[in-house]
Amino acid sequence: MIAIGVLWWRADSSDTGGQARLPTHGDGPGRGSVLTYAPGAWVFRRRVISTVRRCRRHGSIRRQPQPPSVALVAKRGNANATAVRAVVRGGVQGVGFREAAVRRARRLGALGWVRNEEDGSVLVHAEGPEGTVEDLVAFLREGTPGARVTEVALERVKVEGHEQFAIRGVSAGAFVVQEHAATAHHFDLRLEVEGVMRSWAVPKGPSLDPAVKRLAVEVADHSIAHNAFEGEIGDGGVIVWDRGRYEQGGRVAWPQALERGHAVFVLHGEKLRGGFALQRTRPGEKPQWLLIKRRDEHARPGSDVVVERPQSVISGETLDELLRDD
Ligand code: MN
Repeated sequence: MIAIGVLWWRADSSDTGGQARLPTHGDGPGRGSVLTYAPGAWVFRRRVISTVRRCRRHGSIRRQPQPPSVALVAKRGNANATAVRAVVRGGVQGVGFREAAVRRARRLGALGWVRNEEDGSVLVHAEGPEGTVEDLVAFLREGTPGARVTEVALERVKVEGHEQFAIRGVSAGAFVVQEHAATAHHFDLRLEVEGVMRSWAVPKGPSLDPAVKRLAVEVADHSIAHNAFEGEIGDGGVIVWDRGRYEQGGRVAWPQALERGHAVFVLHGEKLRGGFALQRTRPGEKPQWLLIKRRDEHARPGSDVVVERPQSVISGETLDELLRDD
């Protein structure tokens, strides 16, 4: 039994390679033989892990009874990728469980995301090779020393093609939309990325209608210090039309998502809420993008929020009122 425990430890934490003797009992192939695994040798580690599992089922390791594994059958033939959504319930928030899940997922090579839900559960989307996803689910069931997992509800879902394992539902920084009367009237959407405000000039402004695609021309980064600026500039002026925090979403990590020309994010503003996408349509000197509201509970089909709510979220004045005031 102790040898198996060591096997588990080595299999789980060692990237240095080594040797391990498989248990002589059980029904697995190669039982009793010596495995040599090279540094980072994934195949061998996988075999060792599954051997430990088999032993567990034979009762060799005393553990709490585990619910039967969901049949993690690949939905599409693509490199036997599979995907699950797991709702983890129990004492799993505020105990480092989410961070531990991210570390484990990244070490296993699982892709997807984890998010703390308002009801106290932790929601995980995991995809990758079947064995990888199974290993992550096993980790979720075991929990961490500080976490008490009472239930893991699994649902098989579509593989989404994630390229990272991300923490969702956490702020990535500030966002602001400034309405700007200049030579041409426009709205500047700015998202905090790596210490600067990445900026797009949106002539017609943002929309909460998912059917509306608004042109957004990428413009120079602004400083975070400019976010709260309101007042006259030259012949025109600026009001802070909306502001708040935002989350980075999508399948690709930022800022790479922006470099590739497709960035998904969630706004928590006073007027703009929910998921949005920026899709680059024309690269070049002045890259052109489309700003699109994603379909979610914050979408308002048929609405025109820049017309309905023209006031500054700081002063309550409209841009016209600000310009008339002098
Ligand atoms: Mn501007």
